[in-house]
Amino acid sequence: MPSDTLTPDAAARESGASSVVIVGAGFAGLTLARQLSRRHAVTLLDRRNYHLFQPLLYQVVVGAISPGEIGVAVRGQLRHRPNVRSLEAEVFDFDAVGRILNCGAAGGAAFSLTYDTLVVATGMQDHYFGHDDWAVHAPALKTLGGGLRMRARLLGALEAAEAAAARGAPSEEVERLMSVVAVGGGPTGVELAGAIAELSRTAMAGEFRYLDPDDLRIELVEGEPALLNGFAPRLQKHALRGLERLGVNVRLGTMVRAVDADGVTLAGPDGEMRRAAAVVFWAAGVRPTELAGAVAAAYGITPERDGRLAVDGRLALAGHPEVHVLGDIAAYVDPRHGRLPGVAPVAKQQGAFVARLLDDRTRAPFRYRDWGRMAVIGRFDAVAEILGIRLSGRLAWLVWALAHIAYLVGFDRKLRVMVSWGWRFVLGRYAARLITEAR
Ligand SMILES: Cc1cc2nc3c(=O)[nH]c(=O)nc-3n(C[C@H](O)[C@H](O)[C@H](O)COP(=O)(O)OP(=O)(O)OC[C@H]3O[C@@H](n4cnc5c(N)ncnc54)[C@H](O)[C@@H]3O)c2cc1C
Repeated sequence: MPSDTLTPDAAARESGASSVVIVGAGFAGLTLARQLSRRHAVTLLDRRNYHLFQPLLYQVVVGAISPGEIGVAVRGQLRHRPNVRSLEAEVFDFDAVGRILNCGAAGGAAFSLTYDTLVVATGMQDHYFGHDDWAVHAPALKTLGGGLRMRARLLGALEAAEAAAARGAPSEEVERLMSVVAVGGGPTGVELAGAIAELSRTAMAGEFRYLDPDDLRIELVEGEPALLNGFAPRLQKHALRGLERLGVNVRLGTMVRAVDADGVTLAGPDGEMRRAAAVVFWAAGVRPTELAGAVAAAYGITPERDGRLAVDGRLALAGHPEVHVLGDIAAYVDPRHGRLPGVAPVAKQQGAFVARLLDDRTRAPFRYRDWGRMAVIGRFDAVAEILGIRLSGRLAWLVWALAHIAYLVGFDRKLRVMVSWGWRFVLGRYAARLITEAR
């Protein structure tokens, strides 16, 4: 049990500030912490000391950008917010009656914390649909550490293939090392498969002596009959054609039956088949972090079927107006858009909304402003639906690029990512192809 109790900052308390504890420095939590007025003594807790821009994580996997370009220290973002303290700590559970949450700090010490208002915004984690043992062979793209391990696995397989070809190993061994399977045809899987294809065809050409990077075999596996579920059929077809042009073999209507160290077993329209592959990446599902279950247990809520927590128009739990749940783990039904998806704009808008709410700047319920959706396929090729307008190709890519730059935290990161993109998209160079992790 926790040994120490942290109280809100004393000076802030004397001035009558209410104590707001935010769990999770993702898009929702960090936006809220940065926008709350000084009327509140704010504690922002996260189990890591940085905010991660997940939408560009797949570019770390292919070595197009460095981790520091999409990760930013939380503390640095709160430099000019004297009413906000940031602590690296993992929250475990809650005492609803005493308004206390229990945490483990960086370094291992346990402590508890009291709150007047609690905001939980802890996002999602990987989901293997009952096959957690697949995770070791098919890492998922969710954390920076995971992205770096995937980079090591991808680039390491190519290095191993070059060495195998150099020593005259059997062709099946070289082929297995040169085979990549990405599971999941949503935006993450599509972007990852396209980026790997671009990497092999543009950046690595001429760098190998025994291999032709063009021989890299990339398969994208999707259980549904189309890619990019939820996009207009025309854009789904554009994405399919774009990936096929890049050399990606897209398998629709195909399920993964098994994953092991040598590859995957698939079941599709042509029956069951085995694919030998040294690299398997998982982009097929997410579920709320464990903390959502702890919130549900403490505050007497039944999670939705997918584990998310239902919130009302104030983004608070039923019967607990002092507890707000935001971002990916919140299940909010917007009157105009229905149940909101787990995307960054929803999380950011919800963080900004709760800042206005707690500062008495609004009494109206939360309403989502939906600008649209987009996915990048390859160099200068994307699909986008912006305010009902459907775009594909170069224009969609430009919109995608501008939106992602705008969403990145910090001017320096915007600049650095633009330079990396110039390097990648114009010159075809990938500056961060280092194998730094265990494979
Ligand atoms: C690979 C990938 C690509 C994506 N691409 C896009 C895209 O192109 N466009 C888009 O709009 N969205 C995209 N998303 C989704 C988007 O990133 C999420 O919707 C968004 O991050 C949700 O924000 P959030 O604040 O709810 O959670 P997050 O941003 O996930 O933040 C949650 C935070 O909570 C912390 N945390 C978790 N548990 C605990 C705990 N117990 N104690 C303390 N801290 C904890 C985590 O460390 C994390 O910092 C993508 C997601 C992924 C994984």
